[in-house]
Amino acid sequence: MKAAVVGVGQAGGKLAQALTEYDSRTGFDAVEGALAVNTARQDLEGLDLPTVLVGQERVAGNGVGGDNELGASVMQADAPMVLDELDGIVRSSTEAIFVAAGLGGGTGSGGAPVLARQLSRVYDAPVYVLGVLPGKDEGALYQANAGRSLKTVSREADAVLLVDNDAWREAGESVGDAYAAINERVAKRVGLLLASGEAVQGVGESVVDSSEVINTLRKGGLAVLGFADAPAAADAGENVNVITSTARKALLTGTSVPNVVDADAALVVVAGDTDRLSRKGVERARQWVQEQTGSMEVRGGDFPLDGEKLAVLVLLAGVTRNDHIQSFVDRARDAAEADAEDAPDPAAAFENDELDGLF
Ligand code: GDP
Repeated sequence: MKAAVVGVGQAGGKLAQALTEYDSRTGFDAVEGALAVNTARQDLEGLDLPTVLVGQERVAGNGVGGDNELGASVMQADAPMVLDELDGIVRSSTEAIFVAAGLGGGTGSGGAPVLARQLSRVYDAPVYVLGVLPGKDEGALYQANAGRSLKTVSREADAVLLVDNDAWREAGESVGDAYAAINERVAKRVGLLLASGEAVQGVGESVVDSSEVINTLRKGGLAVLGFADAPAAADAGENVNVITSTARKALLTGTSVPNVVDADAALVVVAGDTDRLSRKGVERARQWVQEQTGSMEVRGGDFPLDGEKLAVLVLLAGVTRNDHIQSFVDRARDAAEADAEDAPDPAAAFENDELDGLF
């Protein structure tokens, strides 16, 4: 699937870069172009991508300091600049636009929903947000910001592919220490998904194509991605169980938001050497995902890829709010309420004065 990637804010820029690097290192060439957008000049400096500094008039290149309303407002004002830069990055061949952002910060949290709306207005290609949720130990401001941002991107984007910062972090890594590693894992998984939708010349009919990724995501709402891999036998016939057990691992322990199983639609992609890929295995894995998710719309296919391992990607779309997502929403709401209590309304001091406010 030919994609353009726009990274907004610090996390967004780093993810856009990691995805672009993964795509060119592997030679998949699914990412046609990328752009990083930020209000903080310093965060753009380390990136090896075209960049746009927004909000210069308001924040002079110093960032919005976790104020996502300000992030939204400067993105609204400078959207024409960003759209100008995207000319040539989003092309007529572009099949999807991905807006990557950390939903808990300021620039990406506020800017991604605004940009998703603007991009949907201008381009025919679907706009997906690759949104990072703060881990559960991140501060209250991150939780509250991410709650509001998630609600808004869910409305503005064609689908929101969620990655929880706790999900693909290894035990013992703190979120901060793990950023680079998490970004690599996201880049590999999303990069494989994009590449799996690339037409491969001369290979059999069960190969996945872009329309299957797009049709799966058409369910809208929240999407998550599961991944697992395992060493494969040289002979395809011996890999039926390898594929089904790897699919189980991908769905039950390898998803970008933990413990998601219910979904409106799903796509199962089995990547590996064509000699090792078992069609029967792919079909069994597809059927198993169908039973697990309760979805009648589970697509399956393979993605020919050299190597001795087989990897299974499971894309779930229209996922139902599970306990994990609900506890994030509860944290976000509690953090927002606590914040409102901490900041007394200055107008309350005028309550008994019978004055009317201006608006
Ligand atoms: P912004 O620059 O104002 O948009 O803010 P950030 O992008 O720093 O957003 C903060 C949120 O993103 C927090 O939840 C951080 O944990 C997370 N975050 C920041 N940098 C990274 C990164 O490189 N990778 C990942 N996965 N998360 C990040």
